[in-house]
Amino acid sequence: MVNVGVMGTGYVGLVHGAVLSSYGFRVTCMDVDEHKIERLNQGFSPIYEPGLEELLQSGIRKGTLTFTTNAQQVVQSSDVLFIAVGTPAKEDGSADLTYVWEVVQQIGKYINGNKVIVSKSTMPVGTSRNIEGYLGNMLKGTPYQAHVASNPEFLRQGKAVSDSLSPSRVVIGADSEEAVQMLKTVYATHLEQDVPFLFTNLETSEMIKYASNSFLAVKISFINELALLSEKVGARIQDIATGMGMDDRISPHFLQAGPGYGGSCFPKDTQAIVDVGRKNGEELYVVRAAIAANEKQKSKMVSKIEEAISFDGTLKGKTIAIWGLTFKPDTDDIRYAPSYDIIQGLLGKGAAVKVYCPQGMKQAARDWPELSGRIQYCGNEAECAQQADAIVLMTEWEQFRGVSWERMARSMRRNVFFDMRNMFAGDIAIRNWFQYYPVGSMEHG
Ligand code: NAD
Repeated sequence: MVNVGVMGTGYVGLVHGAVLSSYGFRVTCMDVDEHKIERLNQGFSPIYEPGLEELLQSGIRKGTLTFTTNAQQVVQSSDVLFIAVGTPAKEDGSADLTYVWEVVQQIGKYINGNKVIVSKSTMPVGTSRNIEGYLGNMLKGTPYQAHVASNPEFLRQGKAVSDSLSPSRVVIGADSEEAVQMLKTVYATHLEQDVPFLFTNLETSEMIKYASNSFLAVKISFINELALLSEKVGARIQDIATGMGMDDRISPHFLQAGPGYGGSCFPKDTQAIVDVGRKNGEELYVVRAAIAANEKQKSKMVSKIEEAISFDGTLKGKTIAIWGLTFKPDTDDIRYAPSYDIIQGLLGKGAAVKVYCPQGMKQAARDWPELSGRIQYCGNEAECAQQADAIVLMTEWEQFRGVSWERMARSMRRNVFFDMRNMFAGDIAIRNWFQYYPVGSMEHG
C-alpha cells in the first residue's frame, strides 16, 4: 500500500488528503499551523466545505488519515509527497513561492529513500523543474532519487469534495516514469472511472493551470463588460449569455455577469501569468485587460449603488445591508472577495454598512481588521436589512431564497435591492416590494 503525504492542509491539501484516505491510502497531512492540526486531530474541519468533515472523521476513525506538524515524520513515512501550500501574490503580482521552498527544503533535509514529489499548488512555469534540480543536488552522493511531477488542482471551492471524487480531468506533468506510475496508482479510481487523463511535461502542466484560470477570468470580464454596456442600451445580459452559450464553441458556463471575480485563485493567478509573460518578453494583453476590466467592474458597482440611492446627492446618512461576503456560496473563503471592495467603496463615500454572511463573517472579522468598528456584523439577513436603505446581495447563498420580501421591506427605511448575482432576476415577487436592480439590464436606468 502506498503511503501518501500532503504538505499544507488548506482547501486543496485537506480535501486531497481526505479523498485519498477514502480510497484506502494511508495519508498523513502536515501543516505548520498548530491550531489547525489540533482541530483536525479532534475531527473538526478548520474550513467550511460541504462533505469534508464527514470524510475527515471517517478517515480518522478508519485510521487511514492522520495529521501532524512534524515535517520529518511526513517526509520519512511517505512514498509520495504532495505539495499543497499557498502560493499567494506578492506586491508586484508575481507568485510568492516562500511556502513552496520551505517545504522543498524540508523534503531535501529529511528525505530517506526514493520519493515522488508532486507539485499540487499552482506554481509558475519552471518551478517544478527548479524543485527537481534542487532536490537532485541535495541528493547527490546518496542512493536516493526524488521524482518530481506537476499535478495541478482544478477543484472548485464549495464543491471541492465532489470535484476531487470526480474531477473534470487529471493533468500529470512528468519526465520520470516512476512519477507517472506512482500517480497512476494514486489515481487508480479515476482511471477506472474514465476521468480524462493528460500526460505531459512539467512546464506544460504548470501552464495548463494558469491558462485555465486566466481563460475563465477573461470570460467573466468579457461578460461583465457587456453587462455594463447592456445596462445603457436596453439589452438584457442574461439573454445575451444564453444566446451566446447556445453555440457549442462558446458554452454557457462562466457567462454570468456579476460584481467582478474574486477568490483565492483568479486574482492572483492572472497577475502571476502576466508577470511570467513579462519576464519572458511576452506581454499578455488579453489577461491584462481582464484584470483591468475586473477592477473597473467593482468600482462601477459602487457608483451604481451611489447613483441609485443618493436621492439627496450623497451616500452619507444611508445604511446599506450587504448579504454575502464570501467570493462564492458554500465556502467560508473571503480572499479577494469583491464584497471587500464594494464595502470599502461604500464606506469611503460615507455610507454605514451592515453585513451578514452565512459562513464568511468569522474570517472577515479576523482577516479584515481595517473594517472592524466600521461595519456592523449581523446574526441573519433580516437583522441586517433592518432600518437599511438598500440591500446589496453579493453572494448567491441558497438560503436567501427563503426570505420573506414583505417582512424585509417592512423593516427597512427604503426598499432598494441590488442583486449583484442576478439571483432573483426571474422573481416577480421581489419587484412587488423592492426597486430591483439586477446586473446587466436596464430595469431602472
Ligand atoms: P490555503 O491557504 O488554504 O492553505 C495553505 C496551507 O499551507 C495553510 O494551511 C498553511 O498553514 C500551510 N503551509 C504554509 N507553509 C507551510 C509549510 N512550510 N509546511 C506545511 N504547511 C504549510 O491554500 P489553498 O487554497 O489550499 O491553495 C493551495 C494551493 O493550491 C495554491 O497554490 C492555490 O493556488 C492552489 N489551488 C487552490 C484552489 C482553491 O480553490 N483554493 C484550487 C486549485 C488550486
